[in-house]
Amino acid sequence: MVFFNSNNFIAMRISIILLLSVILLSCGTTNKLQTNKSESNFTESQIELIYSDKVTAPMRVLLITDPKDSIILRTNSKHVYVNSNDSTLNYFAQRLYSTVNNPNNPGVGIAAPQVGILKNIIWVQRFDKDKEPFEVYYNPQIDKYSELKQTVLEGCLSIPDIRDSLNMRAYSILLQYDNAKGEHICEMIEDFTAVIFQHEIDHLNGILFIDHLEKEREASGNHDLK
Ligand SMILES: [Zn+2]
Repeated sequence: MVFFNSNNFIAMRISIILLLSVILLSCGTTNKLQTNKSESNFTESQIELIYSDKVTAPMRVLLITDPKDSIILRTNSKHVYVNSNDSTLNYFAQRLYSTVNNPNNPGVGIAAPQVGILKNIIWVQRFDKDKEPFEVYYNPQIDKYSELKQTVLEGCLSIPDIRDSLNMRAYSILLQYDNAKGEHICEMIEDFTAVIFQHEIDHLNGILFIDHLEKEREASGNHDLK
């Protein structure tokens, strides 16, 4: 995801906190991502792609305008078995980080399918934390969405020349994921950072922000997607 547009909902904070308290009561009830399996995460061709350049080298970002790329971007990604000693997984995560931090094409988030690796791995810039660090998430899944929405301008590294505001993103989400140590975490995320998670997790399910844009335009009676 590319663009940043901070919206403040300060006036609604109290009601949000109450809402989130209710949401958090259900945290940890769906631990189905937890696994102790140890399996090879990558195919030979994926390993070849991952090690095709140095770890600091950005990978090629797939584009929706390329028919072959588009098929991959529309495919669901798969579960990844997290093991902190998996050197290929660590190498790939670092290359994905190098890609979202490419000074020539920087983003605030990226998903593994955007570089042609159909695995449930994303990087998200945490604007809700001090120093706004980038963090990696394995097998992220959104369990709950707040009723409250936010309107945010979005763009995508895989979609050239289109940026537009969506009105359908939840203000807060309840997220579960595996961290780089293989620990299973349940966390509530809000505000703009929650939009980045929603955008990147959509990628893992073959969904792009222009899909939501199209639905919103159809609902409002404007069928033209620029
Ligand atoms: Zn994107």
